[in-house]
Amino acid sequence: MNTFDAIIIGAGQAGPFLAGRLSAAGMTVALVERHLFGGTCVNTGCMPTKTLVASAYAAHLARRGADFGVLFDGPVRVDMPRVKARADTVSGNARASVEKRLRGLAGCTVLQGHARFEAHDRVRVGDQELTASRIFINVGGRALVPPMPGIAEVKYLTNTSMLALDQVPEHLVVVGGSYIGLEFAQMYRRFGAKVTVIEKSARLVPREDEDISAAISDILTAEGITVRTSAECITLAPHEQGVSAGVECTAGAPRVAGSHLLLAVGRRPNTDDLGLDQAGVEVDERGYVKVDDFLATNVPGIWALGDCNGRGAFTHTAYNDFEIVAANLLDGEQRRVSQRVPAYALYIDPPLGRVGLSEREARATGRPLLLGSRPMSRVGRAIEKDETRGLMKVVVDAETRKILGAAILGTGGDEAIHGILDIMNVGATYDRLERAVPIHPTVSELIPTMLSEMKPTAQ
Ligand SMILES: Cc1cc2nc3c(=O)[nH]c(=O)nc-3n(C[C@H](O)[C@H](O)[C@H](O)COP(=O)(O)OP(=O)(O)OC[C@H]3O[C@@H](n4cnc5c(N)ncnc54)[C@H](O)[C@@H]3O)c2cc1C
Repeated sequence: MNTFDAIIIGAGQAGPFLAGRLSAAGMTVALVERHLFGGTCVNTGCMPTKTLVASAYAAHLARRGADFGVLFDGPVRVDMPRVKARADTVSGNARASVEKRLRGLAGCTVLQGHARFEAHDRVRVGDQELTASRIFINVGGRALVPPMPGIAEVKYLTNTSMLALDQVPEHLVVVGGSYIGLEFAQMYRRFGAKVTVIEKSARLVPREDEDISAAISDILTAEGITVRTSAECITLAPHEQGVSAGVECTAGAPRVAGSHLLLAVGRRPNTDDLGLDQAGVEVDERGYVKVDDFLATNVPGIWALGDCNGRGAFTHTAYNDFEIVAANLLDGEQRRVSQRVPAYALYIDPPLGRVGLSEREARATGRPLLLGSRPMSRVGRAIEKDETRGLMKVVVDAETRKILGAAILGTGGDEAIHGILDIMNVGATYDRLERAVPIHPTVSELIPTMLSEMKPTAQ
């Protein structure tokens, strides 16, 4: 039996940083990783996909060269092995750096293997037994593969296997019209594939407001992506071209045939093979570890951080989980998950930056609201870049004058949203931002203007 002060399971977006803080505080730490250092974000999530999105943007801009007075002779060609190699390099460098940092930590023992609880204070990794009075679960998640009719008969790809492709599919069928599916759909369209997106809801990214969904749909269809919504019952079957999907949509052909199928219908936590029952750790009906506001599980001495606790689904939320746990354990603070202002981005081009409540969620509170919006076609920076698709919108509590939420779907939207996120984080009223003097020409400079033009909503 190897005894440590702390065991960390998973080298994702929280574990390695926590290992750094705990070992710097003098604790002996065992960090266990079963697959790739850096977890989803580094290897099969944010980093490779955003690298591919950048290649896809370059292809798109090159095709649009003439719009800017820049002329090329001949068609734009995409060298997929080079595109893939670039993503592999970015991921590989980050993975190596996480591993090097971990192995260089004094007091931290790095173990490679699958960790499984044997008791509330005991974990087995292969033939090694580890014990500690503090155990941190940072096991992340993986692609959800639901038991759709026909799934066992067809070849399908997930976000992980998509990244191994070094060819452009002839026709990529994406099942799932939400965040992950749409990023892949647009990038592969720009690499030259025919792309169809199938979504069971009546609109793309149904979590967003209707005007945002509609604008996203316009952006994608303008690039030649076929969008099939209201696909109530999706069935899969082999086809001479590769695969076909049956889509009981209200409009359009009943089947879509394609060469490749990407399943992007959600994520599930890696908690089913962790022996949580041996430790007595409770999970919810979808397998997410139940945690309190301080990320503690129901078992004293066990915490859960990152995607596996269901309190966030992003790298920044997993990292913030680390900050919360470390501050509370080591700095005598009382930081809580509920203090976090929710924010995220959808990295289609132009991107969607989001913070706080959607308009629909804000209306559901029954509070008196002020609403402001502006199309990107009225944003100078967007006009100059000839990237005028999308809109920005903000919703404010009319009584407290605090911003409740915002969306910026447009060029630079992933960056510009931070102005609003920062004001929300400091808890200031909207007029502080309205009176700011932003830089010209930027997308951000129109945020004060939008705030000054807000109108009360009819409930
Ligand atoms: C295609 C895609 C694109 C994304 N893009 C973005 C983005 O742009 N921005 C963003 O913020 N988020 C993005 N995400 C989400 C982001 O990747 C995750 O939110 C983030 O990686 C979660 O970090 P984590 O530490 O919770 O888990 P992970 O990063 O998944 O790490 C968990 C680690 O635990 C290991 N592990 C699991 N079980 C065990 C076990 N029993 N024993 C030992 N080790 C184990 C795993 O091998 C893994 O290394 C994206 C995700 C996907 C799939």
